[in-house]
Amino acid sequence: MRDRLFIDGRWVAPKRGGSLAVIDPATEAVIHQAPAGTAEDIDAAVAAARRAFDDGPWRRAGGAERGQALRAIAAGIRARLVELARLEVLDNGKPLPEAEWDVGDAAGCFEFYAGLAEAMDGAGPEQIALPDPRFVARAVREPLGVAGAVIPWNYPLLMAAWKVAPALAAGCTMILKPSELTPLTALELGVIAEAAGLPAGVLNIVTGTGTDAGQPLCDHPAVDKLAFTGSVPTGAKVMAAAARDIKKISLELGGKSPFLVFDDADIEKAVEWIMFGIFWNQGQVCSATSRVLVHGAIHDRLVERLVAEARRIRIGNGLDAGVLLGPLVSDAQRTKVLAAVARARADGATVATGGGVPAGLPRGYFVEPTVLTDVPLDSAAWREEIFGPVVCLRRFADEAEGVRLANASCYGLAAAVMSADLDRAERVAAALRAGIVWINCSQPTFTEAPWGGYKQSGIGRELGRWGLDNYLETKQITRYVSDDPWGWYIK
Ligand code: NAD
Repeated sequence: MRDRLFIDGRWVAPKRGGSLAVIDPATEAVIHQAPAGTAEDIDAAVAAARRAFDDGPWRRAGGAERGQALRAIAAGIRARLVELARLEVLDNGKPLPEAEWDVGDAAGCFEFYAGLAEAMDGAGPEQIALPDPRFVARAVREPLGVAGAVIPWNYPLLMAAWKVAPALAAGCTMILKPSELTPLTALELGVIAEAAGLPAGVLNIVTGTGTDAGQPLCDHPAVDKLAFTGSVPTGAKVMAAAARDIKKISLELGGKSPFLVFDDADIEKAVEWIMFGIFWNQGQVCSATSRVLVHGAIHDRLVERLVAEARRIRIGNGLDAGVLLGPLVSDAQRTKVLAAVARARADGATVATGGGVPAGLPRGYFVEPTVLTDVPLDSAAWREEIFGPVVCLRRFADEAEGVRLANASCYGLAAAVMSADLDRAERVAAALRAGIVWINCSQPTFTEAPWGGYKQSGIGRELGRWGLDNYLETKQITRYVSDDPWGWYIK
């Protein structure tokens, strides 16, 4: 585990010498002291990224060269997959098989953007047809500049990959600020990037708190673009900071995603997708389908099966074989989730199962898988993100009501619909106001496909070719090709 920051290709102690206690959420033991960067370290990191962008070889290198470096990073991640996954479990608490998916996906993300970087070489400029034959014009894509990335704790390495890979593919340079709760794998990414031969200053990694390192990064005038994933309130601060000097921004924020289950759906399949949609990663998933709307004709049967399966989930240390639900990331997160359940109960929801701390686990930030039914529409549980293993259910009578209830949210990240009638599923998918719609499933995520939200769930899209666009500027180059004077005053 690292105790230095990665700035300008070197491992340096934070200028103020501070540290962050890293706590294993399954045991509550302090397992490491990570470096706590502050504004001075951010200054050094931004200066390094600025130099590397303005004067260094990175943005001038061809896409093939950048692609090669990204492939080397992917290989470095794959070579250490199990070790990195175990670090992720110690940091975040998630079950090891899920951490292994994440780390594999992070490597896959670097491979995907390596491919897009390589494709940039052959793409050439886009010729623009103009109505005036005295001009020829083309549009070229260029790297946007120095990017600052601020990421959350729920998928530490994967969220880093979603930002670092497209930024580097585009030719940008970057400062990455991981969550203070989960700094371990981001620092390892620095080790891997260094071994991959990335030029100094292209990727800088500063761990620290949101206040001491995140805010100074967002406020820094020499940063051209901010890429943020996290909560809506912090997203609003990032946007406000960006507004001061019109930095480009992309925001991936929270959600309260609906899952509509129609009366012709297979109840067993629906139960598995509902469970996966809210209990994987302990429900600490921005796209978690946490509001489940079930057609009245099957509601009671589905709830019975859901409760039975939720009670069978094995809870424990994410490193233990067979565990499906680990601890939440922190004591504060557990307190927040338990308070949300208590408030839901007070607001009139029924706790069909769970709602408390599991028996037999005296240490660790565990919460039982929780199913809330008849959740009032105006309750906080129905409207606000809980970010824990808590699913809210309600019944609906027909398609129109289901869609109306699904869309009645300030969020619009994801949505899911389950029905044997594919025409209906497609009709509902078209009517849902969300950036991601899953039909007959919930949560599968592909690097190739756009990711991001409508409404307060964010601005812009990550992943796929859309993710690369976040880090590119478009320039038009227009040439006057006529020998005639322009004719403003020379006739
Ligand atoms: P958070 O907003 O508390 O923190 C996110 C990051 O912002 C952390 O690195 C934190 O240190 C930093 N930060 C905090 N204050 C800051 C400030 N003033 N200026 C700059 N940076 C600051 O969120 P979290 O608790 O880490 O993550 C959970 C949230 O993230 C949830 O709301 C979840 O829905 C969202 N999320 C969204 C996506 C998505 O793709 N849409 C993915 C994962 C998580």
